[in-house]
Amino acid sequence: MNGSSKAGSLFYVTPPLHEKYSRQMLFKGISTEGQERLLASRAVLVGCGAIGAAVANLLVRAGVGAVRIIDRDFVEPSNLQRQTLFDEADAREALPKAIAAERKLRSINSEVRVEGVVADLNTRNADELLGGFPLILDGTDNFETRFLVNDFAVKTNTAWIYAAAVASYGITMTIRPGQTACLACLLGSSEGAGLEETCDTVGVLGPVVNVIASLEVAEAMKLMTGRESALHGRMISCDVWTGHFQSVPPERNPACRACVRHEFTYLEGEAQPHITMCGRDSVQIHERHRALDLKALQQRLKATGAEVRQNDFLLRFRVPPYEITIFSDGRAILKGTKDPAVARSLYSKYIGA
Ligand SMILES: [Zn+2]
Repeated sequence: MNGSSKAGSLFYVTPPLHEKYSRQMLFKGISTEGQERLLASRAVLVGCGAIGAAVANLLVRAGVGAVRIIDRDFVEPSNLQRQTLFDEADAREALPKAIAAERKLRSINSEVRVEGVVADLNTRNADELLGGFPLILDGTDNFETRFLVNDFAVKTNTAWIYAAAVASYGITMTIRPGQTACLACLLGSSEGAGLEETCDTVGVLGPVVNVIASLEVAEAMKLMTGRESALHGRMISCDVWTGHFQSVPPERNPACRACVRHEFTYLEGEAQPHITMCGRDSVQIHERHRALDLKALQQRLKATGAEVRQNDFLLRFRVPPYEITIFSDGRAILKGTKDPAVARSLYSKYIGA
């Protein structure tokens, strides 16, 4: 029935699980033993946009034991074309993506411990949010966060899988610190430069997101089941519009800032800016490091005559032409401006310094 189950293991494949995962276990690369390892595995996913949602969906269906999902954003109608975990009701309610994802994933596979965390990963909370997970998966939409993840992974000797997509093009690579090239090996001299093309400027197609997420999760499954010899060891890129696929072995940089010189500038350097661009026409501002009482704020704003909407996780109000969304950790996303000075003044006027 479940022949190779280890006696005493908390994560043996019981008859119902055997049925649930039968097609995956019939695959020789996984088998019953691999499934037991998946059930005992844990991974943290940084970002739950398009790639992140596809990754989370595949991980949870595969029966990975525990998945933490970190995301700073909320669901909007423009996400639904490619972010496969979310629906129109999530967008209407402006649910945080981490919460909407957690709810949907629990309904898909209630045996997986899914934990959605509404937060912006940064130098101050990286230890708390990423620490203790043996595998970090990239679902982010920006290189600042990727270099932070790379620094954390190299410093703590944690495997992570880089994945990105924009327009019809995507790229992915598995990084095992000390054994493979890291992200800084590849992009060292151009860190932060020439990487401005984003989904908000040139768009992104759903199909490329799913190709890249699929490659990412296949690699994650090899790592989680101890099949390291099956890792592709390549940097794979593809363009679903032209049909061009490329696969090259990435080379370590013998002078790499991160994995050779151990200079973790993104992790230990000067604190991250409190104001960051967030999409084409939005600014994120995070100057408070303490929780905010959303109820009290709502009453204060209502008294000014502002139109205020609130759910359990955030509060949103409009001050034309701006729309301001505030999370309980004090973070705000201000839509309608690219100007940090405007954002800062709106924040101190309506939320407080
Ligand atoms: Zn490196």
